[in-house]
Amino acid sequence: AQIEQQKQLVGLLLEDFEEHSSDWLWETDARGRLRHVAARLAQHLGVATGDLQGHSLVGVISSMSRALRRADQARFTMLSNHFTGVAPFRDVVVPALVSGELQWWSLTGKPLSDDSGRLVGWRGVGRDVSAQWRHEQEMIRLANEDTLTGLANRYKFGKCLEEFFPAGSSALPCTLFLFDLDNFKTLNDSLGHAAGDDLLVEVARRISLEMRRDELLARLGGDEFVVLVPGQVPRDDAAALGARMQAALSQPWTVQGRRIVIHASVGVGFAPLDASTADQLMRTADMALYAAKAAGRHVLRFFEPSMAKLASHKLNVLSDMALGLQRKEFFLHYQPQIDLASGELAGFEALVRWQHPQRGLIPPVEFIPIAEESGLIEALGSWVMRQACSDATQWPTGVQLAVNLSASQFQSPDLPAVIDGALTASGLSASRLELELTESSLFQDNARALQTLQTLRGRHIKIALDDFGTGYSSMSYLRKFALDKLKIDRSFVAALDAPPVDKSAVAIVQAILQLAQALGMQTTAEGVETQSGLDQLRRMGCAQAQGFFVAKPMRIDHTHDFIAAHRPSALLF
Ligand code: C2E
Ligand code: CA
Ligand code: CA
Repeated sequence: AQIEQQKQLVGLLLEDFEEHSSDWLWETDARGRLRHVAARLAQHLGVATGDLQGHSLVGVISSMSRALRRADQARFTMLSNHFTGVAPFRDVVVPALVSGELQWWSLTGKPLSDDSGRLVGWRGVGRDVSAQWRHEQEMIRLANEDTLTGLANRYKFGKCLEEFFPAGSSALPCTLFLFDLDNFKTLNDSLGHAAGDDLLVEVARRISLEMRRDELLARLGGDEFVVLVPGQVPRDDAAALGARMQAALSQPWTVQGRRIVIHASVGVGFAPLDASTADQLMRTADMALYAAKAAGRHVLRFFEPSMAKLASHKLNVLSDMALGLQRKEFFLHYQPQIDLASGELAGFEALVRWQHPQRGLIPPVEFIPIAEESGLIEALGSWVMRQACSDATQWPTGVQLAVNLSASQFQSPDLPAVIDGALTASGLSASRLELELTESSLFQDNARALQTLQTLRGRHIKIALDDFGTGYSSMSYLRKFALDKLKIDRSFVAALDAPPVDKSAVAIVQAILQLAQALGMQTTAEGVETQSGLDQLRRMGCAQAQGFFVAKPMRIDHTHDFIAAHRPSALLF
């Protein structure tokens, strides 16, 4: 009687479950033919309960779903395989086409056995998981796909690349092409991000047109694209393929009614020749790309071992630099700037130096570019700013301080805070500080640069444009940015008094001076090495001079001697 009672209770609970849950129960015989058909299942399939009795569960669902893609059909094979074994299964998802609507059902089943352990049937639960399934599929798609171009993204690409480097055996041959669009950032900034997006989509399209089906194109981010070619590729063929893709990209574009041309640099690495891991192959292609970009626009480079040496040299310098910052191996030199009308000292430019414990004194040209590339320039630049401001407070108040800023420092949102910190800590008045920027600082992100400049000028900090005449020397941003000073590059200054009179150098210096005057800007000539050069610049109306003729860069203690000994009249004749 108790057993009977329990059975009834279970029956009631099951009925309740079938009525109120969206899940449904099923039961089959050992071969998977339906024995108990839940009303809900029949209802789902739009047939009478009795019509399903005795039919195979898998067959019933799959027969309704003939119209599916082959990949989805394969799921039924997976499910029916479970019925040939004796192991329970969980959450096997199959498609179900119910009155024209595609649903996804999840089935869980458990084998039933009799007293002797013989399989007599299966019992389980089914559930409509369509919403959750679609959501998961979307997540998988998003995780693997670059949403802008629909190409594989970095994650998906990484997974594909890994397959060429199976654990425990040697790498399968493949070739990696890494692309970088020359001046994409500038185009993106000047045309707007929507146009930049269009451009990237078109890049994806153009590269794909040059590819075979077994090759993979992915976008790693920004304007970085990569093509993975399986199999052994002879160098000449790789060069030809790369050149074809470059040529496709160099065809003129029309973006928002404007005709533009972009070029791509390409770095190529081969596995297993250059690399035995996926990471290594990426790095070799990256080094080759770096070399390609350094060689100019529209260049393709294969990886060479010497590139790795250069890279490891850079890494050494970089780690030494980080250590050197802690160990206070950096110090500053100061070079005087002289007012050419009065001969008075106008200020000093701070120039960073590195006293390396083994390699001796290292000039900034050897480590600043590496610091810029790696981002260490921010830490180094902050140190320079603090040290220079603090040193400058030792000079008479009329003496200015000029500090060099790299483009990445200038673009950093932290810059105003770094400067404020240095000024506050030292007590130096902001109006004594001048920042020397290069054109690359202003070129990269116009709107942001303008804002930073306004912030700085609001604090009465002056801005000088360094190395003027060597870069783009674009008149448009001289107008836009309202700078305080142009520093005439020393290559023109040197040409002024080199024995055969260089007429074009004279003309260029003259033009820069006139331009500065018209725009109300100061001028400083860099690299003045002779009396005659100095005299000539003064006659031409240049405001300030800096160079070995006046003084070489010196340590802070020597600036005091220089200030004490300086006789304005001694320089002027
Ligand atoms: P720059 O800003 O154009 O600095 C002037 C360079 O010309 C200095 O080289 C200076 O020593 C050198 N020089 C000065 N007078 C003469 C001369 O009469 N003849 C010749 N031939 N050269 C002269 P330095 O100190 O080696 O600096 C090289 C570059 O390194 C600087 O060029 C600047 O771009 C960068 N730099 C130096 N210090 C810093 C710094 O603290 N931060 C950043 N971001 N860059 C720095
Ligand atoms: Ca400078
Ligand atoms: Ca300069």
